[in-house]
Amino acid sequence: MSLTQYKKKRSFKKTPEPEGKKKSSSKSNLKFVVQKHDATNLHYDFRLEMEGVLKSWAVPKGPSLNPDDKRLAMMVEDHPYDYRTFEGTIPAGNYGAGTVMVWDEGSYDAMGFDDKPAKEQEKILLAELKKGDLKIVLHGEKVKGAFALVKIKGRGENAWLLIKKKDDEASSSDITKKDKSVKTKRSLAQIAKDTGGEIKKKAPAQKAKKAPQLLDESEEHAEKKKLRK
Ligand code: MN
Repeated sequence: MSLTQYKKKRSFKKTPEPEGKKKSSSKSNLKFVVQKHDATNLHYDFRLEMEGVLKSWAVPKGPSLNPDDKRLAMMVEDHPYDYRTFEGTIPAGNYGAGTVMVWDEGSYDAMGFDDKPAKEQEKILLAELKKGDLKIVLHGEKVKGAFALVKIKGRGENAWLLIKKKDDEASSSDITKKDKSVKTKRSLAQIAKDTGGEIKKKAPAQKAKKAPQLLDESEEHAEKKKLRK
């Protein structure tokens, strides 16, 4: 639960992202957020509150309510709790440069333990996280119901899959078509316009053949490093 990596990657004089001084203070329930991030590669950042920070995964295709979809989720560094309300533009030249939208948010529970207090659920979730097998129930506006977040064996430290479990919220409708901020009802283009961002033309989602094309921020960073050499 360290923000060392988060802080190391960013220059807070240059980015409007939160420095992460405040820890979570929610006592009643645990929060989650999904941020749509128009970086080098458009992706969705899926973040779960645990231990006062946000455990984070970059999901290139975004969450799906269809239990047949297995969405790759690359675990990235913990983000500060107050990142959950961040919407705006990370200026060019900074880590993760691009526009960020609060695409969905809400509370969540450890599956099967929603009658337990948040602190107890958190302990269960941390144990599941360690095992690489999280089972959660999300109460968002777009993302709802039970999900599994499972670490892929033999794919390094960071590759996980986000999979909808079968329940009443399961559906084949594509929730990524709902493309407005849950916080401000703005589109990515509107947020970019309002916050000094660049409105990029996006090609249709690439077919994911090679893992390195599914860039999460850490890989993106590694790629840039390689280029500099
Ligand atoms: Mn991101």
